Amino acid sequence: MKYIHNYPYFWNLSSRTSGKKFPNRKKPGRKQRRINTEGYVMILCPEHPNSHFTGLILEHRLVMEKKLGRYLTKEEVVHHINGIKTDNRTENLMLFKSSAEHTIYEAMQRKLNT
Ligand SMILES: [Zn+2]
Repeated sequence: MKYIHNYPYFWNLSSRTSGKKFPNRKKPGRKQRRINTEGYVMILCPEHPNSHFTGLILEHRLVMEKKLGRYLTKEEVVHHINGIKTDNRTENLMLFKSSAEHTIYEAMQRKLNT
């Protein structure tokens, strides 16, 4: 897959050695994963243009970007099909153009399930 090789921020995570932001990292060869207050998986990716100032970014958005081969816009929302926020497999993720569309979809799902 040509695209993956052109996607440095996805693969350079483990090669970064600047321990300033996260001095407690124990296994430098592994991806830094943490769960944020909303229950989503964040990974350390300071190279990403849309990462948080802490260098963290939502993993499900990265997975979707990898699938699409482009960066997501701020308006786009990635939804977890099975509702499990930490299940970031490609097949569990769905992209919406805006949070409005996402909200409508979730409301519809709720109606269907009741
Ligand atoms: Zn959703």
